[in-house]
Amino acid sequence: MKDILYLVIPCYNEEAVLHETAKRLKEKISTMVSEGMISIKSRIMFVNDGSKDDTWNIIQELHEKDSVFSGVSLSRNRGHQNALLAGLMTAKEYADMVISLDADLQDDINAIDQFVEKYYEGYDIVYGVRNKRETDTFFKRNTALAFYKFQALMGVDAVYNHADYRLMSKRALEGLEGFKEVNLFLRGIVPLIGYKYTTVTYDRNERFAGESKYPLKKMLAFAWDGITSFSIKPIRFVTMTGFLIFLGSILVIIYSFIRKALGFTVGGWAFLSCSIWLLGGIELLGLGVVGEYIGKIYNETKQRPRYIISDVLNTQ
Ligand code: UDP
Ligand code: MG
Repeated sequence: MKDILYLVIPCYNEEAVLHETAKRLKEKISTMVSEGMISIKSRIMFVNDGSKDDTWNIIQELHEKDSVFSGVSLSRNRGHQNALLAGLMTAKEYADMVISLDADLQDDINAIDQFVEKYYEGYDIVYGVRNKRETDTFFKRNTALAFYKFQALMGVDAVYNHADYRLMSKRALEGLEGFKEVNLFLRGIVPLIGYKYTTVTYDRNERFAGESKYPLKKMLAFAWDGITSFSIKPIRFVTMTGFLIFLGSILVIIYSFIRKALGFTVGGWAFLSCSIWLLGGIELLGLGVVGEYIGKIYNETKQRPRYIISDVLNTQ
């Protein structure tokens, strides 16, 4: 009763790493099959996220030569999270468990054995947790830390130092299917599915070829989505600040009246302009945050598809 494992790997312009990644993953899968850990029907599924280079051709070649490789191609670039979702939802049809990982093999693939052991112990979700980040740049390490801290403060319950390297069972994937949001942040959604989960720690390596597909701009957008898609604390924060300042200004007004009543002269233009700038700023900030949420509602109400699959290569 060996179960079927699918590895799902989103790829965006990854021609530089794909051959090596395919080789290493195939070795891994073959060993696990021969050790009797997983079924011979296990597959390595690459998701082409609208790449502009040779990525999809390479995937097709791999698939033609060896049926252990399967592939999904999206109609255009939809970003890492959507590509991953497309892969997970396709793999769900065939697999008993799915592990998601990056094409650059920054996540140590030797942890796959432990993921699968935990699955057989009865866990539905196994989170890969990094035990060191020395291989990331100083900047990336610290922005990531700040991001996790800020998220926690804003009430998002994500697993610390976990990226998207995780195992999910078939029923966990079926649970995931029910979450229809367009602003997808899987790290935040997966814990909401529930079921029994555990973690496995692993080393994070350097990307062995090609460049990071997560420039600062994408990282910031991702971080912002991660917060605003899960919590309304930013809105509360602005409301609370507004309320406190309102109280403060009432106190100042009372104070001014008392001074006037006692016969003192009350401060002039400085006081006035300060309060106008302060209130103006806070109002704008508040409007911005509220607008952000309205934008999110707007996007969700459109109910657009999160991805469109143009091709599937699979041999089951
Ligand atoms: N990726 C993707 N679509 C994108 C950007 C990235 O599918 O629009 C994939 C990419 O090919 C890789 C994974 O997401 O497999 C993580 O990207 P990367 O390694 O560049 O990110 P980093 O490790 O630098 O955070
Ligand atoms: Mg990477």
